[in-house]
Amino acid sequence: MTRRKLVVGNWKMHGSIASNKILLESIIAGLRDLHGADSVVCAPYPYLCQVQSLLAGTNVAWGAQNMCSTNDGAMTGAVSPTMLVDYGCTHVIIGHSERRNLFHETDDTAAARFSAAQDAGLIPIFCMGESAEERESDWTDYIVGRQLDSIIRRFGPHVLRNAVLAYEPLWAVGSDNPATPQQAQEVHEFIRKRIARCDAQVAAAVRILYGGSVTPANAAQLFAMPDIDGGLVGRASLQADDFVAICRAAN
Ligand code: PEP
Repeated sequence: MTRRKLVVGNWKMHGSIASNKILLESIIAGLRDLHGADSVVCAPYPYLCQVQSLLAGTNVAWGAQNMCSTNDGAMTGAVSPTMLVDYGCTHVIIGHSERRNLFHETDDTAAARFSAAQDAGLIPIFCMGESAEERESDWTDYIVGRQLDSIIRRFGPHVLRNAVLAYEPLWAVGSDNPATPQQAQEVHEFIRKRIARCDAQVAAAVRILYGGSVTPANAAQLFAMPDIDGGLVGRASLQADDFVAICRAAN
């Protein structure tokens, strides 16, 4: 099974109307002839309209970094899945470690968002990963397995047909301390094998991204590993040259 590589930029809480325009115009130009891999940028909510108007008709898709699990109602400050669809989003990041740690998101709330995203026709990019302490205690498989099971046990493995998984060890996110390709591959293989216990076809087809200090210098080696299908990229997605180089490494 050949899986098409995917690179997703996570802008986090960065950007402005002026800087987004420059960034996106350079990304569009840099990726115009890229046909062998997919790319997505996930922008803050207020810029989705701008991102839509600049990226529509290009080979770069866009999405959001979170969403509410219900579609409308008295939920001050929340943004619904259907609102993201209104702005042309195709993807949404679910369960990022910053949401889990800074905003108290749990396996349960992440699972509810995952399902609501799919109900709205969005592709959830579901994040999993262990902390440094958990890795040191040899708990990586337990933590990542638990996070993965929070989806598979509730909804069945088939839901992964319309989803992307991302392994993002917390110690590597925003740290300049990326996992080595071997470390990342080990966990990606663990994830794929765990899915295969339930459904071998789904396991073979699902794209599993690696995230955590991906740069142009390490992308090609990471993406060469058999179970790494691309990257979820934070800081380097804010520099057009770096993001383009990472997408090219996936191409
Ligand atoms: C992320 O935001 O998901 C991420 C991986 O960040 P960085 O690439 O900056 O480590």
